[in-house]
Amino acid sequence: MDIKLEKMYGLFINGEFVPAQSGRTFKTCNPATGEVLAQIAMASADDVDCAVKAAWAAFSSWKKTTARERSEIMWKISDIVEENLEYFSTIETLDNGKTLEEARADITDVVDQFRYFAGCIRTDEGSYVEQDNHGFNIIRKEPLGVVAQIVPWNYPLSMAGWKMAPALAAGNCIVIKPASNTPLSLLEFARLAGKELPNGVLNVVTGSGHDCGEALTAHPGIRKVAFTGSTDVGTGVGETAGKNMIPFTLELGGKSAHIIFPDCQWDRALNAVKGGILGCAGQICSAGSRLFVHKDIYDKFVEELADCFAKVRVGNGLESGIEMGPLVDERQMETVLKYIDIGIKEGARLVTGGRRITEKFYNEGFFIEPTLFADVTNHMRIAQEEIFGPVLSAIPFTSEKEVIEMANDSPYGLAGGVWTQDINRGIRVVSQIDAGLMWLNTFDMYPAGTPFGGYKKSGFGREAHKMTMEEYFQVKTIYVSIEE
Ligand code: NAD
Repeated sequence: MDIKLEKMYGLFINGEFVPAQSGRTFKTCNPATGEVLAQIAMASADDVDCAVKAAWAAFSSWKKTTARERSEIMWKISDIVEENLEYFSTIETLDNGKTLEEARADITDVVDQFRYFAGCIRTDEGSYVEQDNHGFNIIRKEPLGVVAQIVPWNYPLSMAGWKMAPALAAGNCIVIKPASNTPLSLLEFARLAGKELPNGVLNVVTGSGHDCGEALTAHPGIRKVAFTGSTDVGTGVGETAGKNMIPFTLELGGKSAHIIFPDCQWDRALNAVKGGILGCAGQICSAGSRLFVHKDIYDKFVEELADCFAKVRVGNGLESGIEMGPLVDERQMETVLKYIDIGIKEGARLVTGGRRITEKFYNEGFFIEPTLFADVTNHMRIAQEEIFGPVLSAIPFTSEKEVIEMANDSPYGLAGGVWTQDINRGIRVVSQIDAGLMWLNTFDMYPAGTPFGGYKKSGFGREAHKMTMEEYFQVKTIYVSIEE
């Protein structure tokens, strides 16, 4: 699809695009080619302040809308996204590098999240509780006011959808910040779908994490922060929110265990392991980046997996047949290459991949070969640290007990997968792993209605489920006493 992007995108504040007050901009590029896609306004604290004020001005009437009115608006938004699915998907591929097929799945997810929460809000209820002396409580849920939302670059519009939908359903106004290397899909969302919302209900500020992100998190007008990103930055966001006495939810990094027993459905497991680490070029918080394979099948599984990796078609995600796109930018590519080097130095066996792809066809893109390390031990850095790239560490195990211990021996606890046809063993193992989402005989499934979030350093709070709306409400109890 041919896309005509604006040359310059402003900040989306109070229903219109405005330049940053400083006049500063930054560029966003296509990671497959290095081509500059557009210039983007660079927000500072003053711009963030304007956005927060616009959001509060809108809140006075938005909070009075009924659940039905909000639900209807959210359905209209979902329709607009669906009608423009190819448009949004192409923008996502251009800006992030993921394949068009992956981008289509992301945008379909945005549609689904909006419809799901449009439904949730229609069925959400407060409660009534009888009390002593002929009294009773009416327990009401009220929106918080203006909330800040910060999203990363790996699922730009999809992560934004996970955040915007429950917040809007609950009646809040939003100031949201996309990552500076992938701002386009959210800005285009604001342009196309934002007009369904009253001015100021949705505001998008773009800029660096250091200036724009910190100013947003610390702004005294913010009543909640929802953050998705790295554990390091999330820790700081949580500290600031704590100081400001506002609630916060954090969706952070991961190092998910993918566990294969000898009685697995072989081809399905092999495919899931491949997709679980090469999807979005491995830049997935819940990537199955630690592969535990039972010793009885370890050599055969690793050999067949290496064969699958070597056959993956890497390239520009806009081209048909491409299975894996580039890394999002040079910095991320360098980080991944550094980890490949670390793995080699730690003594892991590089079975396949390990190189940047620099052939002419790849132009200036940030492509890395699908990379598989075998004979990894769980204490190696490549098994403990989040690499966020197409690099898989395969570790052998001998018993259920041992693999559970190794899977839990990680600072993270976001997700994981287990493959076995023994349902008792499957449930036993997934139940004992400290992670917020475990897949049994599948992997990487996140439809709306599937609570997503971490244990341990993977953060806390859950998204993509009706319980997420509770994070965007505050509870008011009205104790009523009736005179007899
Ligand atoms: P990041 O933490 O560098 O940035 C995330 C967002 O925070 C960006 O919008 C960035 O501009 C902003 N930011 C940066 N510094 C900030 C600051 N000091 N104050 C406020 N905001 C700031 O992460 P990233 O590199 O964009 O994304 C990759 C990380 O995100 C990985 O660790 C990955 O695991 C994690 N992630 C987690 C989930 C999840 O749901 N758990 C989903 C996607 C990504």
